[in-house]
Amino acid sequence: MSTPPPGKAGALVEQVSSNGFCTGCGACESIAGSDTITMRMSRGGWLRPVVLKPPSGQAEAVIADVCPGLKVEHEQITPGHHAVWGPLRQVRAGHATDAELRRQGSSGGGISAIANYLLESDRVSFVAQIAVSGTDPLANELQISRSRDDVLHAAGSRYAPSAPLSRLQDVLALEQPFAFVGKPCDVAALRRYAAHDKRLNTHLVCAISFMCAGIPSIKGTHELLRKLGTSPEQVRAFRYRGDGWPGMARAITNDGQTFETDYNSSWGTVLNRHLQFRCKICPDGTGEFADIVCADAWYGKDGYPDFTEREGRSLILSRTDLGEEIVSQAITRGAIEAEYIPVEEIARMQPYQVNRKQVVWGRRLAARMARGSAPHYVNLGLVRAALSARPVSALRDALGTYRRAKGEPQ
Ligand SMILES: Cc1cc2nc3c(=O)[nH]c(=O)nc-3n(C[C@H](O)[C@H](O)[C@H](O)COP(=O)(O)OP(=O)(O)OC[C@H]3O[C@@H](n4cnc5c(N)ncnc54)[C@H](O)[C@@H]3O)c2cc1C
Repeated sequence: MSTPPPGKAGALVEQVSSNGFCTGCGACESIAGSDTITMRMSRGGWLRPVVLKPPSGQAEAVIADVCPGLKVEHEQITPGHHAVWGPLRQVRAGHATDAELRRQGSSGGGISAIANYLLESDRVSFVAQIAVSGTDPLANELQISRSRDDVLHAAGSRYAPSAPLSRLQDVLALEQPFAFVGKPCDVAALRRYAAHDKRLNTHLVCAISFMCAGIPSIKGTHELLRKLGTSPEQVRAFRYRGDGWPGMARAITNDGQTFETDYNSSWGTVLNRHLQFRCKICPDGTGEFADIVCADAWYGKDGYPDFTEREGRSLILSRTDLGEEIVSQAITRGAIEAEYIPVEEIARMQPYQVNRKQVVWGRRLAARMARGSAPHYVNLGLVRAALSARPVSALRDALGTYRRAKGEPQ
């Protein structure tokens, strides 16, 4: 996308948002300052930047470089870069040894176990991660976790908008070593921001992400609650999954009733129908910019992931030397139990992510044709992935994106 003409400060952020390319990460709020740009829930149910006053030219230049709605880029291809899965050191499947972290975690509690290991070994002073808001049982907010209990509180996937980078300035102001957990797009933006604020390289010890199929609008959660037989207003507590693997979506209402449904019904029939447009053209569903990534290490049945309830198991990818050292140490210190698995296994556990990578080049092209611009994706192997797709289905998929991009509200 091109930068806006001089004199239209703030137009860049508004353009990203109105084109449907905003991921909702919140980086622009931290860069410009909350008195200038603030993240708010949009009418569509996504966190979007609202420009309160024109950002400075310098802030806008940094936003232009950092915003994942404008650009996602590997500056170079490092050794060990897998064509589909990106930078890889080791591939493992395993789980937290702490039974509660494993059970409450989304898959095997891998992220929580690593976060807790980093805290308990004093490698970090805190973990910046998303957890349920203390005031709204359906809202996500950034939590500064300093103990196992904090990490446990944040465990589990929250399939709703989160803007962890909107509070990045508060995090950096603490001037302490920290780990960050976020969506792949959050981590991609965080990495780019390091070039503009030296404090990040000084204090960020480790970036952790998870494979991500996309962020549903909060309207997806509202629809799910209605389908369960309750409503957003009646809910006192809600979790999307975890407390088992995959675990149930469970709402507890003010009068103490419990409503629940399984993962297939919650994600598969409601939430995944509310994904934001940017997620449909996402070039990085697997956290290529993180040091460590966890995902569901699904067992297969008839060639598809099997969502039968079992004890949790995480797929654990180390993507950098640092990430590998941390995962190895977490295993040696007994925080995680894990075994190496062949890289080919990832595709069996995560077939959806293979397909996504194959179609995104065509989808981006379709979005560009429909909306006149599209984010830049550099060194992500998308052309190669597109060439491995079946041409007819890739074309049909791109046409579908074109139609959606023409018609879908932002
Ligand atoms: C929107 C979304 C889409 C996902 N899509 C996939 C997918 O396609 N394939 C797959 O294998 N896994 C996906 N996951 C992740 C998966 O559900 C598990 O989180 C992953 O297996 C890690 O499990 P764990 O037990 O190690 O994590 P846990 O130990 O439970 O830790 C989960 C971590 O994720 C963080 N988190 C939760 N929700 C959010 C959020 N909305 N924004 C930012 N951080 C958050 C928490 O702070 C916590 O640190 C998705 C998660 C989300 C939130």
